[in-house]
Amino acid sequence: MHNIESLRLLLNKPQHIVITTHHKPDGDALGSSLALYHYFTRKGHKATVVSPTDYPDFLHWMPGENTVINYELEPHRSTKLISEAALIVCLDFNKLYRINELGSIIDAATAPKLLIDHHPEPDSFADYNLHRITACSTCELVYDFILLMDDEQYINTEIATCLYTGILTDTDRFRVPTTTPHVHRITARLLEFGVDMTNVYQRIYETYPEYKLRFFGYCINERMDIIPELQTGIIAIDAADLRQFGIKTGDTEGLVNFPLQLKDVRLAAIIIERPDQVKLSFRSKGNVDVNALARDHFEGGGHKNASGGKSALNVQETKQNLIAILARQKKYFFD
Ligand code: 5GP
Ligand code: MN
Repeated sequence: MHNIESLRLLLNKPQHIVITTHHKPDGDALGSSLALYHYFTRKGHKATVVSPTDYPDFLHWMPGENTVINYELEPHRSTKLISEAALIVCLDFNKLYRINELGSIIDAATAPKLLIDHHPEPDSFADYNLHRITACSTCELVYDFILLMDDEQYINTEIATCLYTGILTDTDRFRVPTTTPHVHRITARLLEFGVDMTNVYQRIYETYPEYKLRFFGYCINERMDIIPELQTGIIAIDAADLRQFGIKTGDTEGLVNFPLQLKDVRLAAIIIERPDQVKLSFRSKGNVDVNALARDHFEGGGHKNASGGKSALNVQETKQNLIAILARQKKYFFD
């Protein structure tokens, strides 16, 4: 492992840099990627963001997003860029499998790798690590990185807007406990660079298509189980439900939070039948460790209060399995 400050030397002259992030990028993944894209470009480098997949419609306004390469659509171009890169930056993921096929390509690449991330227990594939599990978002760490490089003067409205977006979304609108005084100080500084806060909020949270809100209503009304003795709410959705409402990538984002609005629910889960597998998302309040739950039983992980995983069973069997696990083991609720 090298000292991150020694990267300054490498970045002193123009380089080819590839930036990548986890599949189905969210606001933090895309925000941190594009912030670094703008930063490196302003410094005179040739930077490219390669995403393992597409990303949701509500992020299609972000500054620079039209330059992002989708590996699934352009695998050869992506592979060539990676082979020519002098630095590969990996953002907002801790395990190479989180970037699908790109994982083995990046693992085999000879260029030095920089990982900037806040997920627990990162794999040790990178040469440089800026990793802090207490960071609210990867965007918080990218801001710290730019300062570490002594480059605050490069921050402009575009960079600030990208970083603000990741902080806003990963803190669930400045709500979760990772929203520390440091985060508020960074956010205040970013606003000074001219972020249009209300515009960002509207682009992210107030641009639902009508079918999405109706789908949420349907899920809460018809597909949600509340299990009071387990302080748990589960929404289980199959492929027919998704088809009926025409649900696309990212349309289910935010749905998992609804059961947590109930006073006595401390753990919320959604179980969704995706084309290739059954996916789970978990959210929790306080001392309920859904990272451990996802890691122990659903080949996944994430953070204490937000995690995800998958299941080889069908949707209904997965729901019964989850209920059985929670009934059997109280250890995920530790207070
Ligand atoms: P989401 O529910 O928004 O998809 O994911 C919530 C959190 O869990 C994110 O921080 C994400 O990185 C993590 N996560 C989601 N799915 C998986 C998974 O399959 N494996 C791992 N390791 N983490 C996941
Ligand atoms: Mn993140």
